[in-house]
Amino acid sequence: MSRIVQCRDCGEILNTEDVHADFSACTYCGSTNIDYRLSFTETLSLHDQVEGKVKVKGRKKPIREFISGDELFKVKKKWVFKHRIIDRENDRYFEKVVDKETDEVIHECDEPLSEHFGHGSAKFKKE
Ligand SMILES: [Zn+2]
Repeated sequence: MSRIVQCRDCGEILNTEDVHADFSACTYCGSTNIDYRLSFTETLSLHDQVEGKVKVKGRKKPIREFISGDELFKVKKKWVFKHRIIDRENDRYFEKVVDKETDEVIHECDEPLSEHFGHGSAKFKKE
């Protein structure tokens, strides 16, 4: 069983270092809209994904987008936990895909957003 503490406003996962820590406010955006979830990876077959966009008045594109939750990983035909943040304000692209059974990191990417999209073929799309 694992616990996920996540900000409902910006999608930041707050408890990656200390799984038992308590948070009164998001360390990233300061929001107090914090979501505590327990995930029972073995017994529960409920798959949950959170998606969000943070928009600012006068800006066409959202300054921050995130996806977080379970996703069916087609190549291995198994459920994985996926967390992706596109942060235009801080020029950051973060993506992490973890095998829920083994905790193995299948894919991890943390780089400037400008470089990520500079690769040419990389596009932000939902798989
Ligand atoms: Zn936040």
